[in-house]
Amino acid sequence: MMLTNLKVPTEQVSFLQAVRQGLGQQQGLFFPTSWPKLNIDALLALPLVERSTKILSALIGDELTEAEVAQMVSAAFTFAAPLVPVTAQTFCLELFHGPTLAFKDFGGRFMAQALAKAQGGRKTTIVTATSGDTGAAVAHAFYQQPGVEVVILYPKGKISLLQEKLFTTLGQNITTLAVDGDFDQCQALVKQVFDQQELVKTYNINSANSINISRLFAQICYYFEAIAQLPAEQRSEAVIAVPSGNFGNLTAGLIAKALGLPIKRMVAATNLNDTVPRYWQSGQWQPNKTIATLSNAMDVSAPNNWPRVEALLAQGVVSRTDIEAVKVDEDDTQLGMRLLAQEGYLSEPHAAVAYKALKRSLQPGEVGIFLGTAHPAKFKEQVENILGTPIALPAALAKCAAEQSYSRDIPADFATLEQVLRQLDNR
Ligand SMILES: *Cc1c(COP(=O)(O)O)cnc(C)c1O
Repeated sequence: MMLTNLKVPTEQVSFLQAVRQGLGQQQGLFFPTSWPKLNIDALLALPLVERSTKILSALIGDELTEAEVAQMVSAAFTFAAPLVPVTAQTFCLELFHGPTLAFKDFGGRFMAQALAKAQGGRKTTIVTATSGDTGAAVAHAFYQQPGVEVVILYPKGKISLLQEKLFTTLGQNITTLAVDGDFDQCQALVKQVFDQQELVKTYNINSANSINISRLFAQICYYFEAIAQLPAEQRSEAVIAVPSGNFGNLTAGLIAKALGLPIKRMVAATNLNDTVPRYWQSGQWQPNKTIATLSNAMDVSAPNNWPRVEALLAQGVVSRTDIEAVKVDEDDTQLGMRLLAQEGYLSEPHAAVAYKALKRSLQPGEVGIFLGTAHPAKFKEQVENILGTPIALPAALAKCAAEQSYSRDIPADFATLEQVLRQLDNR
C-alpha cells in the first residue's frame, strides 16, 4: 500500500520508505488514503500475534510477505495486553507489561523490526531525544540489534530516576547522553543533526520518533485485542478512553474503528494541556504554553499526530461524533486514582485521566474501557504520595534500579554531539 504525505500529496512512498524517512517534505506526515477490507469476526477469534500479523500485513500490502510480518510481530509483541475488570461497567486495557512498562513498547518494538527491514542490512544510527518513556522503549527495542547504534539525549536531572535507569543501564549499542539543558534543547540538538546532510548520509542517521508510521500501525493491534476479550454481547457497546498527549494512541484507535472494529465511541482524554477539547468546542486551534502536570507524558500542547485525525475525518471513515474530547484537571486526576483504589485497582495519573474522562462520558448500557498506558511503579513517588500507600517495584524495574548507569554528561552543544556520533563509527 502507498502512503501519501498529508502536506505534499504528490509525495507518495511505500511503507518501508516511510519507515526509513519518518517525515516527508515540509515535515508532512505519511498516511494511507484508503483502507483494506478486513473480516472482523474472523480476526477477533485469533490470538494476539496471529491476528496482529493479519492486520499489519493487510495494512502494509505486498512489500512484505505475511511470513515476514509474522516474524516481525512475534519478535515485537512478546507480552500480553490483558483487559482487566475494574468496576461493573469498566475495564482497564493494561498496555504496560512490556520490558519498559509503558505502552510505547508496542510501537517501539515493532518500529525496530520495521526499520531493520527498511535498512536491509545497512548500518544505521538512531538519534532521538526523550522526556521519559519513549527513550526507554526505543533503547530496549534496538538493544543488541546488529548494525544499529542508538544515541539517546535526555535532560539531565529532569526525568525520574527510575525512568532514567530503564535506558541508561543497558550499554553496548545504546549510548545515552545526559544533556545539561531541558527537553526542548535536547530536541533542538536532534533537529540540528538532521540539518547536517553529510552527517546524516555518512552515518545513515534516523530519528525513530513518535510520528513514524510503523509505530502507529502497531498500536492499532491492541484495540482489536481489547474488543476480542469482551464478551460477544458487549462488543457493540464499547466506549474507549485514551489518555492523550501527541494523540498517536487515539489515532490508532480511530484507525481500528475505520477498519471496522466495533468501537461505539472514542474518548480523547487530556490533562490541563487541553488544545484538543477546546478545539472540539470552539473550532479554533489555539495551543497554549505547555503546563506541567501529574500525567507528564501527556504534557503536550501541540499534538503532532492531529493532522492524521483530520485526515480520517476528511476521508469520511470516522465522523465527528465518534470522538468525544474531555479535559481532566489535576484534582480530578488524583480523585480518579483514589476512586480506582477504592475499587481495589492500583493505577497512576495517566490511566486516571482516562478513567475520569470515561466516567463522564459513559451512558447506561455501555461498556467502558480505559487504557492503562504505564505501570504504576513507573510513577512510584506520585502514586505513593497521592494514595498514601507504599508500592512495590516489579522485578524488571528493581533489577535495573540497582544497576550502574552508563550515561555521559554533555553540554547542550552541537559540536560535542557531533563528536560522539563520529566516534561511534570507530568502535
Ligand atoms: C506517551 C504517553 C501517553 C500519550 O500517548 P500519545 O500517543 O502521545 O497520545 C500517555 N501515557 C503514557 C504513560 C505515555 O508514556
